[in-house]
Amino acid sequence: MTAIDHLDEVRARLARARKVFILTGAGVSAESGIPTFRGPEGYWKKHPPEQLASPEGFARDPKLVWEWYNYRRRLIAGCEPNAAHRAVAEIERRIAQFLLCTQNVDGLHQRAGSRNVVEIHGSIWRVRRADGTGPSVENRTIFEDTELPLRAADGALLRPDVVWFGETLPAEAFARVDAFLATGPVDLAFVIGTSAVFPYIIRWAAIPKHQGAMVVELNPSPSLPAELVTICWPHKAGDILPCLLERE
Ligand code: NAD
Repeated sequence: MTAIDHLDEVRARLARARKVFILTGAGVSAESGIPTFRGPEGYWKKHPPEQLASPEGFARDPKLVWEWYNYRRRLIAGCEPNAAHRAVAEIERRIAQFLLCTQNVDGLHQRAGSRNVVEIHGSIWRVRRADGTGPSVENRTIFEDTELPLRAADGALLRPDVVWFGETLPAEAFARVDAFLATGPVDLAFVIGTSAVFPYIIRWAAIPKHQGAMVVELNPSPSLPAELVTICWPHKAGDILPCLLERE
């Protein structure tokens, strides 16, 4: 394996860190076998994800959208957390003040042992009424396609409790991340496996950077603005994160 630039520096910072923030995206689960949307396997039956994961797509064809989510539930249920998920969970065990914000809906971080997790895009394992009333409830069933679209007892359409393209982030989850970042400076932040296409990704890298944190971007195709990044590792998450935790 190739040498990892600045590995000792990041290890030393991690060893001294009291407060660590980690932001992850679809890339952290890619090595578990779950395709990213923007990667080559992002399309399902030739449908671009933006057309399925959207309020308009659901209004147009709720059965099709549910079939896609059901397919992804089955796929995710057959995948295991990878070395990157496990390393993130191990970092949490070592650090006094820790928050993981994931855009992933697959629950693999929690399965790897992460506890202090904000699921900023929701969870594929929760459902709620599409009319916006009522609570979000856990539901881990893999359905027969004939049972879809999923409906409540009164016939109302249910939807996966995930954030679709064009929807706003859940206010409570957003506030939890902001509150963590506002209460004292972060020593070390990792932005792993996400493209910086949304303003809140930039925001949650910029706040720690301006607080003096070491900000590490880990992504084979890095996309954060250079001024927000202290160290850029253009590699796969599962290749690098375990090295961070090895004893020298
Ligand atoms: P994204 O914009 O976060 O892109 C994925 C990023 O991962 C890319 O920048 C890519 O270069 C990087 N990447 C690929 N392989 C990697 C690896 N091995 N290590 C590190 N980085 C790697 O996400 P997206 O795919 O466009 O998805 C958009 C949204 O859809 C997500 O934020 C999420 O809410 C949802 N989604 C979730 C899952 C999941 O739960 N596993 C998967 C796909 C999409």
